[in-house]
Amino acid sequence: MNCHYVQSLISAFIDRELDADEKRELRRHLISCSECNVEYQDIQKIKTCLENLIPESYDFDPMIALRSRLVSEANEFIPTSLHLLWWGRLGLVAAGLLLFFLSTAALFPSEPNSARIAQRRHSSSLVSPVSYDQNISIDHSVNIYQASSILP
Ligand SMILES: [Zn+2]
Repeated sequence: MNCHYVQSLISAFIDRELDADEKRELRRHLISCSECNVEYQDIQKIKTCLENLIPESYDFDPMIALRSRLVSEANEFIPTSLHLLWWGRLGLVAAGLLLFFLSTAALFPSEPNSARIAQRRHSSSLVSPVSYDQNISIDHSVNIYQASSILP
């Protein structure tokens, strides 16, 4: 056994994973080689220290921690999203109302311009025999009885 091979087996030797022949040869080499013996002592100290470590006890439940973190994240997220959501809805309602009023004003003007009124009165007084003869302006609404009495 050379030193390199022995040093690769030291950990397995300490863990009692070698067969009887390997153990015997390794012991023989460790007695004769001081360098490998120092390596063996160091590794054994490290393993002893690691075995003597006391596992740290802690009061940590990952599910409780996760749940509390989710709640805190939700509390931070929801007001912002609701705030944006309500502003978006308000903007949509305002845009709808503006569109409604603009289209209403464009389709049904509240006061027809004076030129159209004058033209309508002029044409109805001159052309329409109904308004001239019966003294009923075409600008006024006429119900079905009035219309039936006017028409021949
Ligand atoms: Zn050696």
